[in-house]
Amino acid sequence: MAIITEMVHPSLWLATSDSTNYPSITNDVTVDVAIVGGGIAGLTAALLLKQMGKRVAVVEADRIVEGVTAYTTAKLTSLHTLIYDKLTQRFDAQTALAYGAANQAAIELVAQLVGSYRINCDFNYASAYTYTMRQDEVAQIEAEVRAAQSAGLPAQLVIETPLPFEVAAAVRFDNQAWFHPRNYLLALASEIHSDGSYIFEKTLAKDIDSGEPCQVKTDRGTVTATDVVIASHFPFYDKAFYFARLEPHFSYLMSITLNGPVPEGMFIETQSEHTLRRHVTNGQEMLLVGGQGHKTGQGGDTTERYQRIEEWARRHFPVKQILHRWATQDYTTPDEIPYIGRLTPTSRHLYVATGFKGWGMTSGTAAGLILADLIAGRPNPWASVFDPNRFDLDSVPKLTKQNLNVANEFAKGYLLSDEDAALPRGQGSVVDGPDGKEGHYHAEDGTYYRVSAVCPHMKCVLSWNPAEKTWDCGCHGSRFGADGRVIHGPALSDLESVENGD
Ligand SMILES: Cc1cc2nc3c(=O)[nH]c(=O)nc-3n(C[C@H](O)[C@H](O)[C@H](O)COP(=O)(O)OP(=O)(O)OC[C@H]3O[C@@H](n4cnc5c(N)ncnc54)[C@H](O)[C@@H]3O)c2cc1C
Repeated sequence: MAIITEMVHPSLWLATSDSTNYPSITNDVTVDVAIVGGGIAGLTAALLLKQMGKRVAVVEADRIVEGVTAYTTAKLTSLHTLIYDKLTQRFDAQTALAYGAANQAAIELVAQLVGSYRINCDFNYASAYTYTMRQDEVAQIEAEVRAAQSAGLPAQLVIETPLPFEVAAAVRFDNQAWFHPRNYLLALASEIHSDGSYIFEKTLAKDIDSGEPCQVKTDRGTVTATDVVIASHFPFYDKAFYFARLEPHFSYLMSITLNGPVPEGMFIETQSEHTLRRHVTNGQEMLLVGGQGHKTGQGGDTTERYQRIEEWARRHFPVKQILHRWATQDYTTPDEIPYIGRLTPTSRHLYVATGFKGWGMTSGTAAGLILADLIAGRPNPWASVFDPNRFDLDSVPKLTKQNLNVANEFAKGYLLSDEDAALPRGQGSVVDGPDGKEGHYHAEDGTYYRVSAVCPHMKCVLSWNPAEKTWDCGCHGSRFGADGRVIHGPALSDLESVENGD
């Protein structure tokens, strides 16, 4: 639930697009499909379902497209760092083919919608590259090219790229694209909100009654629908232990102008340490540079992450000006394939889309295509690969490791005991209070915030994120503003304020 006006670093996309003001739900409504979450997954599904003749209602806790989708790099590509060789080895060539085909279809769908609705969203075709500077990773790049080619994808092995430094090898996919995600999605939203279909903002979904019909209970009214799509990034209605299967990863971005040309294309380094792409908006050409990822809540002094990105950018490019800085998180599944489909094995009317692993511009769009088919009862060629209820024995060690990390975070939080020294302005810290862990933040304007530092989701202790001025949960990725207001689930409620006992 994004409260972007209070975020320290609004993104390029928020800074260069209109805001929205859709109504909250005031009376109970009945539609064919209720969609919880107004990000790329929810809005794409809503539009496709409406195009099929369904009446839809998008329920958004805050404002649409102010969640993770507003903080992305917005590359539209099926080249997801290195994935096709892994999928082929772990599953089979068919799985790699379906994964690639779904993501390629997503690029085509965006291009088609941009064309048919004449959307002004800086959409441009470009090549995407995954590169390495290390000779010992060349074999990995070669294997990726082979697997991607076998999956029918436009992959080539190259040793030259438009980057101003040498690479050891790279995979190149042609005819990929980039765009302005908010300008694209706000245009889709305006197509959705009419003729018996709705977008409800500032309407928090709190629970679902999964009967026939289903009922989505919000803080303001009820949406009755035959089917429900949960596209809340982390599934807010977690009946299948998604919290134990999804790992949150946080990363950072900057938009900068250069004294010179910006390399054409989209680039990511094999370990995702650096990600880059050109963007032009309102006639201004810029380079987006990012990376420095870590598990949410475990990034230490996060301000250093921006410093490292800036230092790296200055080493490789003639940086003129830094325009925007922003950061967000995305969830990864143990086998790196998103969960798109029925919420649980027995769900008849509840669907979910999550776990996009940093590639939700295409996977979130593909989710719209897959879910529209499932809800219409039409066959979909990729649905079984993305089925959230697949069980893969190979995932067990990773799941165990992931949950051990959660257990460590849980225990670490309770062992940590920072001194409750008077905090300098601008700093936050977790301290021991009389009734448990407290989060203290001393704002630049002198306000002193004291909130419970225990996540309402599963009682993990939060950490302070100094760069974004948020309380982040290292267990499952819930995030809260400095004043304790929830900005990202799975938690659904704010942190309790702690009375000043002084
Ligand atoms: C730094 C970074 C860079 C990235 N770059 C790329 C990229 O270049 N290309 C790419 O393909 N992907 C990229 N991604 C991934 C991509 O941005 C995400 O996967 C995608 O935006 C997720 O979309 P979503 O619709 O699932 O979530 P969101 O955009 O977060 O939408 C979910 C919405 O649900 C709402 N919500 C939550 N709970 C409730 C509730 N209970 N009731 C009502 N509403 C609720 C939220 O407020 C939010 O608006 C990147 C990710 C990161 C972290």
